Amino acid sequence: MNVFYHPLYSALPLPAHHRFPIHKYRLLYERLLADPELGKAVHLHCAEPATKEQLARVHTPEYINDFIGGTLPASAQKRIGFPHSDTLVARTLQSVGNSLGAAYCALEHGIAVNLAGGYHHAFAGHGSGYCIFNDLAIAARELIQKGRADTVLLLDLDVHQGDGSASILGDDADIITLSLHGEQNFPRLKQSSDYDFPLPTGCDDALYLDTLETALNLVLRLHQPDIILYNAGADVVSEDELGTLSLSLDAVRQRDSLVMDMAKQRSIPLCCALGGGYQRNLTRVVDVHWQLLLSAYHTYKE
Ligand SMILES: [Zn+2]
Repeated sequence: MNVFYHPLYSALPLPAHHRFPIHKYRLLYERLLADPELGKAVHLHCAEPATKEQLARVHTPEYINDFIGGTLPASAQKRIGFPHSDTLVARTLQSVGNSLGAAYCALEHGIAVNLAGGYHHAFAGHGSGYCIFNDLAIAARELIQKGRADTVLLLDLDVHQGDGSASILGDDADIITLSLHGEQNFPRLKQSSDYDFPLPTGCDDALYLDTLETALNLVLRLHQPDIILYNAGADVVSEDELGTLSLSLDAVRQRDSLVMDMAKQRSIPLCCALGGGYQRNLTRVVDVHWQLLLSAYHTYKE
C-alpha cells in the first residue's frame, strides 16, 4: 500500500480555538504505522513540493505569486481560512506535490493514498474553505498534458461540493468531474460539475450507497477513464460538525470499498486524497479517515 505523507501536514500553527482539526493527519499516520497488519504493508513516500510551473497548469500567476509571497489581500486570505505563514506555504506546496506523486504512483502500482489533499474549493484565481491550490485538478491537467492519461475522472465524495474543481475543469472535455454532496452544505452557490448528485439533509446509508453505485457505474461505462482521482472526504458521517448527511462509519467503509472494487475490477488506477472531516474529537475523525486505509489494504492486498 503506497502512502504519501509529510510531517508538515500537522505542523501548521493555528490560533487557539481554530476549528480546523490540523492534528488529524499526524494521528492517522501514527495509527497506520502502529497497526500490526497495515503498518507492515505500507510503503511510505514523499514527493517533491509542487513547483510554480505545476500550479500554473490551473492557477493564475498573480494568485500563485501573491499566496507564496504573502501579499494576498486580507479578504482573500480570510476566505482561505488559514492565516498566512511560511509554514502554510511550505505545507501547501508539499501536500499538492504529494497528491501529484500519488497520481503517478497510482498509474504505476494501481493505488496510492496521499494522507492530505482534496483541495476542491480552490478556484483558478482564489482559495476558499481551507483550500489553496486545487491538487487533484492540477494532477488531472498534468496527466493529460503529459500524455499519461486520455481521460481522467475526478470523483469527489467529500460532503461539500467540489465547486473549485467544477469551475476550473468545466471546459476540459477529457477530465470528468463527479460530485456527490449535501445540497444544503457549503458552498451555498454551487458550480456545475459534469455530474452532480446533491443529497438531502439526513441522507442515510442506503440512499447514499445506491446513488454512488448508480452514478459510478454510469460514469465509468460512459467515459472509461484511465485514472480516478478520488477525494475521500470524511465529513459525510452523521457526527461530522459541518456535514449535513447521516452516514454511519460502516457506510464510509462500504463507500471506499465500492470505489476501490469498481476501480480494481476495471483495472483503473486510483489516487486517493483525504479531503475534509470535522469533529472536535480527533479520535473519531481519524476513525472515519481510517476506513479509506482499511479498504485499500483489504481490496489490494493480493
Ligand atoms: Zn468537506
